[in-house]
Amino acid sequence: MRLSNLIDGHLQAAVGDAWLDVFEPATGRIFAQCPDSSVADVEAAVAAASRAASGWANTPLEQRARLLQRLADLVEARQEEFATLESRDSGKPLSLARQLDIPRAVSNLRYFAAAVSTWSSQSQAMAMGAPNTGAINYTLRQPLGVVGCISPWNLPLYLFTWKIAPALATGNTVVAKPSEITPCSAALLGQLSIEAGFPAGVLNIVQGRGATVGQSLVEHPQVKAVSFTGSTATGALIAAAAAPQFKKISLEMGGKNPTIVFADADLNDAAMDTIVRSGFANQGEICLCGSRLLVQRSIFAAFRSDYLARVQALRVGDPQDPDNDLGALVSKAHQDKVLDCIEQARGEGGRILCGGHPLSVAGRCAEGWFVAPTVLEGLPSSASSHQQEIFGPVVSLIPFEDEAEALSIAHDSHYGLAASLWTQDLSRAHRLAAQLEVGIVWVNCWMLRDLRTPFGGMRQSGVGREGGTEALHFFTEPKNICIRY
Ligand code: NAD
Repeated sequence: MRLSNLIDGHLQAAVGDAWLDVFEPATGRIFAQCPDSSVADVEAAVAAASRAASGWANTPLEQRARLLQRLADLVEARQEEFATLESRDSGKPLSLARQLDIPRAVSNLRYFAAAVSTWSSQSQAMAMGAPNTGAINYTLRQPLGVVGCISPWNLPLYLFTWKIAPALATGNTVVAKPSEITPCSAALLGQLSIEAGFPAGVLNIVQGRGATVGQSLVEHPQVKAVSFTGSTATGALIAAAAAPQFKKISLEMGGKNPTIVFADADLNDAAMDTIVRSGFANQGEICLCGSRLLVQRSIFAAFRSDYLARVQALRVGDPQDPDNDLGALVSKAHQDKVLDCIEQARGEGGRILCGGHPLSVAGRCAEGWFVAPTVLEGLPSSASSHQQEIFGPVVSLIPFEDEAEALSIAHDSHYGLAASLWTQDLSRAHRLAAQLEVGIVWVNCWMLRDLRTPFGGMRQSGVGREGGTEALHFFTEPKNICIRY
């Protein structure tokens, strides 16, 4: 299967006809090729987006929203095809792609179509008394022009649409770059955008590597803003490249999220399932996963045995088998990185309570990149496995005495994306939620998402917020107009 770029309304190969192999992580075999685009492809895409910018900015809101809804309909009609593609491309269980990735991509398109339709800007009236003679201010929120959207491999279509939907809804034209590791669903979305009727140049998708396509997109002087989701290391490169041109940037980056379980938590079956899921969903390859599991010492022993039994019951194997909870890691390089992190934890004195090794799966997936769900304990807060983002099926158990210690361990990290608190004490929940230096706090739940809420992190997890009006604000420039009367 050879994928295409979408440039100026045409599906095409890269200018140099160069290709990158795309692997199916569950089998370790090549199953597609995507364009290995160059600076020339980015130039062509930005030029097309620039030509389309004023026409799209002046397209009535209703029409922009209608096209996004039409695209959502087309994705929904081919949901099963998208889910299969996403699962083959990323190694995630097909059941997860069906329940989470693809429905959420549809919701992203529908949500921003609706959000922009009901959106209004501000107006401030100034009183008529001296020294004023009366005036009215109103704010225009105008599209930025051409914007760049760069997304990662862990939730490919979900995060790709999370960026392009608000960018398009607010009247920008887009040059988007999906991850070269999981390019398939974005390529199919590009085809469907033509069918939906988006004018040529409004949405352009350039496939290829970060260092070429991503970098030249960020550096391009006609690209007015960059919305990025990916690692903190890449985010730093993007910030450095964008700064000299004073571009608007939104950076959604890594996390090392604490899950904090207090002795007073109601740890019923559903709660324990959610706590397990918060560490291992999508093989732990979600920025929001709680990889540091803090448990109050008075319940630590009992919690650990219940938790371990549940983790050991997780089924890992062929992502196409609906009975499996975890699939394969996204690449051989990533599998090696995760296994190296586990070795490092062992070297630092960590005890491996379960997992800690690659997993062989019989049959079709014998050469796949699987790792057994791993639980560690006995490591100090300074250990590398508590500091670096492993981004795999690895959770570390950490005991704590009281609120103060929980907070201090939670904050012993450069990251600040999310936290999940488990307690029945309402005062404690509010108190800690206010103090935690993270962008998102879940209490007695995890990854419960309302698309209207601000989404993102602080510290080295992010700059800016996505979601709801935050995204509509990011993709527009406010202009105040003051009229004296
Ligand atoms: P990555 O940073 O390697 O790549 C992300 C994207 O950036 C890819 O499309 C890549 O090609 C591109 N890229 C790479 N180098 C670039 C450069 N120099 N200039 C411009 N673009 C470049 O990240 P990844 O490995 O694909 O994704 C995993 C990371 O993403 C994890 O750290 C995870 O926490 C993070 N993530 C964060 C969120 C969030 O919302 N905060 C969500 C999902 C994933």
